Amino acid sequence: MTVWVLGDQLTREHGPVAERPDEPVLLIEAHAFAERLPYHPQKLTLVFSAMRHFRDELRDAGRDVHYHQVETFGDGLDAHFDDTPADDLRMMCPAGGDADRLRSLVEERGGSLEIVENSLFCCSRKLFDDWAADRTGDNYRHEDFYRHIRRETGYLMDDDEPVGGEWNYDEDNRETPPDDWTPPGPPTFERDEITRDVDSWVADRFDGSYDEAPYGGSWADPEAFRWPVTRQQALSALEDFCTDRLATFGSYQDAMQRDSWAMSHSLLSSSLNLGLLDPREVIERAIDTFERGDAPLNSVEGFVRQVLGWREFMRHVYRRERDELGAANQLNATEPLPDFFWTGETDMACLADVIEGVRRRGYSHHIERLMVLSNFGTTFGIEPRALNRWFHAAYVDAFHWVTTPNVVGMGTFASDVLSTKPYAATSNYVDRMSDYCGDCRYYKTKTTGENACPLNALYWDFLGRNEDQIRSNHRMGLVYSHWDDKDEEERDAISDRAAAIRQAARDGDL
Ligand SMILES: Cc1cc2nc3c(=O)[nH]c(=O)nc-3n(C[C@H](O)[C@H](O)[C@H](O)COP(=O)(O)OP(=O)(O)OC[C@H]3O[C@@H](n4cnc5c(N)ncnc54)[C@H](O)[C@@H]3O)c2cc1C
Ligand code: SF4
Repeated sequence: MTVWVLGDQLTREHGPVAERPDEPVLLIEAHAFAERLPYHPQKLTLVFSAMRHFRDELRDAGRDVHYHQVETFGDGLDAHFDDTPADDLRMMCPAGGDADRLRSLVEERGGSLEIVENSLFCCSRKLFDDWAADRTGDNYRHEDFYRHIRRETGYLMDDDEPVGGEWNYDEDNRETPPDDWTPPGPPTFERDEITRDVDSWVADRFDGSYDEAPYGGSWADPEAFRWPVTRQQALSALEDFCTDRLATFGSYQDAMQRDSWAMSHSLLSSSLNLGLLDPREVIERAIDTFERGDAPLNSVEGFVRQVLGWREFMRHVYRRERDELGAANQLNATEPLPDFFWTGETDMACLADVIEGVRRRGYSHHIERLMVLSNFGTTFGIEPRALNRWFHAAYVDAFHWVTTPNVVGMGTFASDVLSTKPYAATSNYVDRMSDYCGDCRYYKTKTTGENACPLNALYWDFLGRNEDQIRSNHRMGLVYSHWDDKDEEERDAISDRAAAIRQAARDGDL
């Protein structure tokens, strides 16, 4: 018997590695997948370095580890079964919920694979499926799930009531910081020898040319690598967040500032998604900060909702609706991804700044992903799978189970499986929540004509183009009443401006 650990299951705290301390561990570092898309070099460095550190930690603890550096999982399993014929493997279920391919690979080589629950999440398959069976309607509603999981776990609960009396403090979480606010600097973890080696190997090996991006892996413009690659570093990042930034996380959760890429966000997604941190310990540490009086309830509830609510919800919706989400395009969006998603070369100040951050560090925070990048993608009409592939390649925390529902379901409304309406907005939103518009070449107050903010015409054009599908949603009633107020001349001008914007994007001139 051998415990097989995937590269995003790097925990010694629980699961089969902890439960079977005497069994050897198998880790397969498969390289060929990393050539399928032009992945951000920091994402590749992060995953491979974290795996090698995990291997060394296990060995230092006296564990027998079979570590194969190969092209494919099949090659790694060939090597394993050559050494240990007919071995029985045991692994935690992949986060996306599908182990069929891995099981076939093992069985084809004469072994067996036992899959156990993935203990790196708070919500079990059964808990979610029971909740989903009881819901009304076909869609999944996050707010209902969130209340259910709060009750089930008892996090931030006073008996049967939410601590503070409210389930949600969103009203308090839409502030922008005062001009003199200086956000605490985010932590940086210096590269050690392992990470430096991986870094230079990644730079040599994965700099080829890809259909998707003519620049290959070199589209990115990486600054010094900063992400946690060990559990110790991830725990230190958690401490740093709870000590320095959690108190202001809630209030400034939706704000964007040109000079602060991290704001008060936790930057913990990559550590959570690799298994270096357990969501329960993250939630409990945040609640402890609240109980000691070091962070207000609106911040802590807002953070718990992201980790306990959205993260768990997205994972299970993906597990159950993977096929639908993978193919969805209910608004028939067909535009190719504009080149500037790779180069950052656009005069739209909001997009340019967010994309530049992604090119540097494979990260942007949630509102930048949702209300800048996805908002543009949705209203411009980018084909959802193309946008999803870009997010998947570009972010250090991207894994199919979390990227796909966020991009296809929440970000672009390509499927209505988890959203009832699109997140689409004009420059009004960006201007209210950021300091971008003041220095932009485009006029935030103009909708049509030269130099009008592209988001404005694209927004109205989007509503016009998709009226049949979106108008019937009662939450869109108010915006469609504004659309109804526009006469034919105005609508034509919007349509012309939207067409000119699309052409400018194709010409590399937006
Ligand atoms: C279009 C789009 C694409 C996204 N792609 C990814 C992705 O590839 N990987 C990823 O981990 N998250 C993704 N998210 C969710 C979210 O934006 C990131 O988890 C978050 O920005 C990570 O930064 P942070 O750790 O500083 O998060 P914080 O703002 O500090 O939030 C705390 C934690 O909550 C969790 N979380 C918050 N929102 C979500 C959500 N919608 N779905 C799942 N988890 C959530 C994350 O684990 C995050 O670390 C995406 C969101 C959108 C709108
Ligand atoms: S004016 Fe428009 S394009 Fe420019 S920063 Fe504001 S929202 Fe973005």
